[in-house]
Amino acid sequence: MIPLDPQAAFVQRLQATWLEANNLTLDVLRLDKVHPIVSGNKWFKLKYHLQEVQLQQCNTIATFGGAWSNHIAATAYTCKLAGLRSIGIIRGEKPQNLSLTLQQAEENGMELLFVSRDEYRDKKDIQQRFGNTTWYWIDEGGFGKTGEKGAREILDLASHKNSYTTIVAAVGTGTMLAGLINAAGSNQQVLGISSMKGNSDLQENVSQLTQQATATWSIHHEYHFGGYAKHPATLLQFMNEVYLEHQLPLDIIYTAKTLYAIKDLVISSAFLTGSKLLMIHSGGLQGNASLPPQLLAF
Ligand SMILES: *Cc1c(COP(=O)(O)O)cnc(C)c1O
Repeated sequence: MIPLDPQAAFVQRLQATWLEANNLTLDVLRLDKVHPIVSGNKWFKLKYHLQEVQLQQCNTIATFGGAWSNHIAATAYTCKLAGLRSIGIIRGEKPQNLSLTLQQAEENGMELLFVSRDEYRDKKDIQQRFGNTTWYWIDEGGFGKTGEKGAREILDLASHKNSYTTIVAAVGTGTMLAGLINAAGSNQQVLGISSMKGNSDLQENVSQLTQQATATWSIHHEYHFGGYAKHPATLLQFMNEVYLEHQLPLDIIYTAKTLYAIKDLVISSAFLTGSKLLMIHSGGLQGNASLPPQLLAF
């Protein structure tokens, strides 16, 4: 087993003409380095759930996800490290060939239960049907307060965290974004880039988790590239360029869209000159295995 190493995260400064021309700096916090499977934000989001499992004297973590879910991958591995039983409720009928994510989750000891797309919508019903008092449930994608609490600790890994004017991160459920907003100072701005098309609940969901926050924040909804897990050629080409120029691997679902958005916003002068940007590389690289081979340069 590969141990988790939050200290392996580091800050990478990007050098690019599109930044210099606008008198901006962009640092990337490489959370992808924390662990190849429990990468990025997922470790932070799971951290306090692990404490809760102990407090509630449960022996099993059960959660929900799709075939390429980073959250499923991370939960399986984290449970293995912690010596807990893990159950993954997977959306859709069991396919003949499991995705690599699910194969790996199984290898890491997760028991997979497949439910139809219809049944999957009613999480409460599933919890009643399958679960029992020894099971500790985590919401789909790790959404919620307990995950948010862990995500507040992400910025501590950036050595000059107070020097940034703007923090930018990818958004799925909004849990990580909420943690970043709560951890940021009143003079900082936090921008989320939604990887989904028209996720109209996000504003409300993040608001609920950030009622005490002093930082300003907003979510961009126009960089979804067609929707969750859609990856048109422009996005893949961008990922390859970024890797060749900066040795920075990005994932197709979240971080590629986030850096693309940052570049687009910089070029359209959306940031004040002199801004110091910090992008959170939230990991997720395992999901790139869903692509046909040879599309990516890394
Ligand atoms: C899960 C995930 C996100 C989204 O995190 P939320 O807390 O659900 O918004 C962003 N980036 C990567 C790489 C992820 O795996």
